[in-house]
Amino acid sequence: MDQKLLEELKKIIGGDVVTDESTLVEYSHDASLFEVKPQVIVFPKDEEDIKALVRFVNKNKTEYPELSLTPRAAGTDMSGGAINESIIIAFGKYFNHTPKINGNIATTEPGVFYRDFELKTLEKNIIFPSYPASKGLCAMGGIFNNNSGGEKSLQYGKTERYIRRMKMVLSDGKIYEFKKLNKEELDKKMAQKNFEGKIYRKMHRLINENYEAIMRAKPDVTKNSAGYFLWNIYDKENETFDLTQLFTGAQGTLGLFLEGDLELVPIKEHRGMLIVYLKSNAYLGRIIDEVLPLNPESFESYDDNTLMLALKYFPEFAKQLGPLGMISAGLAFLPAFISFFTGKRLPKLVLQIDFASDNPDEIDEKLRTLREKIKPYHPFVQTAEGGEEKKYWLVRRESFNLLRKKIRNKHTAPFIDDFVIKPEHIAEVLPKVTDILKKHPEFMYTVAGHVGDGNFHIIPLVDIKNPEVRKAIPEISDEVYKIISKYKGSITGEHNDGIIRTPYLEEMYGPKIVKLFEETKKIFDPENIFNPGKKVHGNLKYAMDHLRTNW
Ligand SMILES: Cc1cc2nc3c(=O)[nH]c(=O)nc-3n(C[C@H](O)[C@H](O)[C@H](O)COP(=O)(O)OP(=O)(O)OC[C@H]3O[C@@H](n4cnc5c(N)ncnc54)[C@H](O)[C@@H]3O)c2cc1C
Repeated sequence: MDQKLLEELKKIIGGDVVTDESTLVEYSHDASLFEVKPQVIVFPKDEEDIKALVRFVNKNKTEYPELSLTPRAAGTDMSGGAINESIIIAFGKYFNHTPKINGNIATTEPGVFYRDFELKTLEKNIIFPSYPASKGLCAMGGIFNNNSGGEKSLQYGKTERYIRRMKMVLSDGKIYEFKKLNKEELDKKMAQKNFEGKIYRKMHRLINENYEAIMRAKPDVTKNSAGYFLWNIYDKENETFDLTQLFTGAQGTLGLFLEGDLELVPIKEHRGMLIVYLKSNAYLGRIIDEVLPLNPESFESYDDNTLMLALKYFPEFAKQLGPLGMISAGLAFLPAFISFFTGKRLPKLVLQIDFASDNPDEIDEKLRTLREKIKPYHPFVQTAEGGEEKKYWLVRRESFNLLRKKIRNKHTAPFIDDFVIKPEHIAEVLPKVTDILKKHPEFMYTVAGHVGDGNFHIIPLVDIKNPEVRKAIPEISDEVYKIISKYKGSITGEHNDGIIRTPYLEEMYGPKIVKLFEETKKIFDPENIFNPGKKVHGNLKYAMDHLRTNW
């Protein structure tokens, strides 16, 4: 950054302004396969710093058009959402005050790690049920702004369902609070003569004038993080208008999130799990049809490659369970070990079906019913109750992390990592997608996912320096996202658009809806100061030019 500009920035910020090379390199990455070097990292101390940053960019934007602000919490974004070229606002250092819990509402700041947030909620025996698998690594800013979801989203839905209030700094450099408004409150807001009034008037008009098209565009799947969620704002029947639904999942492209309220749910006392090993995917569709009506809390899956990896690195996996847990996990996976070491085929797919209730009899009944119902498909089945489920969860949750850490010379490349289709299409779509990958032997991959939601995480392992790999990434993406759009799915259920998927939003939603996304961005951020290149005006060439060159 220009020295004069940097000096000006340092003068107005109470927190830290950092430009040393190692910090810049650290913040050039998130958990995506991209690398974009910023000019400055600002660790804001308080709300005054955030307002000052927006004023600073507005004031200097004409002379320095490349200036922008990209918020970041823990930096575990897999889409490239948390990296950019200009100023990164790192919320983790100071915006991490202990969350407050009042009844079933938690108030939190963006820099609070989810793991610390959960410790607080568990004290009251309540939980935020849309935590992601990265629960040990990520922070609340990313959860709100990616609309994160996870293993319990099948029953509880995603973050969007739990947000009750968001405090934001908008592009005029002022702080506003957003929550669901009734008609009278909305009319009052729209009558205001300030920036907030203008936003409400313009968004109300945009949604009203395009209501049918917007409602039709809502993806017909249970989970979605793609685009701006225009269909969630205006509830015509109940006459409510809620702009928190627009900021949710917007990846910091419409404003900077300072504080928010989340509704929490009670934890169910008892749980029981059925683990189903399938030799092929042939009966998957029918098994899904039997499972979903029993309303499991989660319904997860992983493939033979994931299982192989877990067996190969078993001691590291299992040490998280302690010595006794290690032995019982060893016994639980014994059949798989025997197949593995005797060269027999491992099960093609492992399904984990988890039931939760305050009534233990209900769980027993569901486990029994499900065993009976799936008997005709001859799977091998195990039951886990009373805490035994942990070892199975470990394989499911840790598989991506293991891939990231363990395989030498190869790295995880999330680019078709999070698509969603209706569960009835899984048996048809999944082989089509894996067939595309099979044409590229340089891509090793595992498939794990939230099968009950039709949400799959396919994360290839690649040598990113290999030119064949770099060439194939957009080719595979094009093919896969065409299929997903044809089946009216979503290109991302949880991980969001970022650098990698913004260019595919038009394929998914069509030009009219993308135009509405662009108008929305313009209403909130007319000078494009917030996280440019994400959600609107994505560019596949830019993405490919910023693939990591090493790890
Ligand atoms: C091993 C692993 C497993 C994962 N599993 C899941 C999963 O199961 N489900 C899931 O949903 N995701 C998953 N993810 C992706 C990621 O962890 C989540 O999306 C997480 O919620 C991001 O949180 P973060 O604090 O790291 O956010 P960051 O990466 O820091 O940011 C995420 C986005 O939010 C924006 N943002 C951050 N703070 C603010 C703010 N204050 N104001 C405005 N915008 C802001 C950023 O600009 C960025 O676009 C996984 C990632 C990894 C590495």
